[in-house]
Amino acid sequence: MAKITVVGSANIDLVVRTPRMPVKGETILGGPFFSGPGGKGVNQAVGAARLGGDVTMVARLGQDQFGDTAAGNLRQEGIRLDCVYRSVDAHTGIASILVDSAGENMIVVASGANAELSPADVESSADAIMAADVILVQLESPMATVQRAVEIAHQAGVTVLLNPAPGRPLADALLRQVDVLTPNQTEAQIITGLVAGTPAEAEIAARALLKRGVGIVIITLGAAGALVVTATRAEHVAGFTVDAVDTTGAGDAFNGALAVALSERQPLAHAVTFANAVAALQVTRQGAAAAMPRRSEVEAFLLGAG
Ligand code: ADP
Repeated sequence: MAKITVVGSANIDLVVRTPRMPVKGETILGGPFFSGPGGKGVNQAVGAARLGGDVTMVARLGQDQFGDTAAGNLRQEGIRLDCVYRSVDAHTGIASILVDSAGENMIVVASGANAELSPADVESSADAIMAADVILVQLESPMATVQRAVEIAHQAGVTVLLNPAPGRPLADALLRQVDVLTPNQTEAQIITGLVAGTPAEAEIAARALLKRGVGIVIITLGAAGALVVTATRAEHVAGFTVDAVDTTGAGDAFNGALAVALSERQPLAHAVTFANAVAALQVTRQGAAAAMPRRSEVEAFLLGAG
């Protein structure tokens, strides 16, 4: 089975639907409310596990009720918890999320224990990283932790998939150890300083990232799918047309799926089509981790779409 180790954040999402976004100082009545597992790390881990990946999570939770809930959620998804650590003095991360009637969202994250995930934690998890086919990392963990995880994986010859979200500038020393980088258009712009609004602009930004040492750049383009750029070619892999209900976690669905496809050694364009299909299904449902589709649904969807 394809082995994927995810190093990243674990939150509890607290989601309120709202007819519209409030303005400063305003209180409005919204609802319904629901809570569930979240954090880019957990979302991507759940996405990969539901597609059949053998997933290990490297993360930090608090020793509070949300932490117990988050650990229980991971266990229920069949994700390995050996490298999930618990902080005594920090709370489990939470994300306060508003989703309006158009499916757009506004999010504030209180990182809590996620901010304590350390390079030492990553070193304690080295066996799980080195045994993986693919390591999947995001930027909701401290940068030194991200760097150490990428370094351990790269030195062991494990494929490094870095989803640079939320966007922040990245050092060339890190980018040189990344096999596949998956920014959305905003993140590509933050990392490169180049506008990436159109597919043509995105391709220029992707080439700048290749020049800085990344192996393959995949820029996600929302409903339009993704642009795949390697040293030898650029290819636009079209997205799937669906009725989007809640786009929270679209990028997470895409990355979890891409990790599975790459660990199964699917050809690149095929892997990206698979990831587009998984993300398209995910946006048709409310929630982030909760909305991740299962393998059988994705296969049926791809047959229907083809
Ligand atoms: P993020 O969620 O990180 O902002 P994108 O908006 O680029 O990233 O979306 C990631 C992926 O999710 C896209 O590459 C695409 O496959 C899928 N996706 C996003 N929005 C839609 C949509 N409205 N319809 C179909 N697929 C979508």
